[in-house]
Amino acid sequence: MALARSHALRDWASAQREECEAMNRQKISAFAPDDEARFWSKVDKRSPSECWLWLAALTPGGYGRFSLRGTLLTASRVAYKLSHGAVPDELDVLHSCDVRACCNPAHLRVGTAADNARDREGRNRHQHPGRPKAWRKLAPDTVRLIRSQAQLYSTREHARRHNLSYDAMRKVLNFITYKEVV
Ligand SMILES: [Zn+2]
Repeated sequence: MALARSHALRDWASAQREECEAMNRQKISAFAPDDEARFWSKVDKRSPSECWLWLAALTPGGYGRFSLRGTLLTASRVAYKLSHGAVPDELDVLHSCDVRACCNPAHLRVGTAADNARDREGRNRHQHPGRPKAWRKLAPDTVRLIRSQAQLYSTREHARRHNLSYDAMRKVLNFITYKEVV
C-alpha cells in the first residue's frame, strides 16, 4: 500500500516536472494588446518590491497558467516577455523571490537550467557549484542577450549566470568569440 502510494507520488512529481519543462520551452509570440490587457488583469499588481501573484489557474507545480488562443503559457514567462523582451528558448525564467505564482517583472530574470538547479540547491542548504566551462556553445539569442545586458552585470556575474569561465565570458562580451553574432 505504502509502495503504491510512493509510486503514485513519483508519477505525479515527474508529470509535474515534464509539464513545467514543456511550458518553459514554449515560444511566446503573437501577443495582441487585448491579450496583454487580459493577462495583466489576472495579476495582483502591487508595489515594485512585493510579489505580484497570479490570480487565475495554477499548474500542479504552482506556476500561473495563462491560455492564449488555446495554448497554455506560463504566466511568469509571459510577464517577463511583456516587460523585458524575448526569452531565449534554452533559458528559463527564474524567480528571485522563490514564489512561483509571482509575476512581478522585478522578481524575474532569465537563467540556464543550471542556474535554476543551483538556486534551488542554494535554498536547500547544500551548494554544488558546477565547474564553470571554458567553452560551451551559446545560441545566438543568448549571446545577444548577454551583450545587451553587458552594463547590467559584471563579467564575473555574466559568467556565473551562464556557467562559463570568466575568460570565456570576457571574450563573448568583447566580440572576440561570436564575432558573427550582431
Ligand atoms: Zn515575487
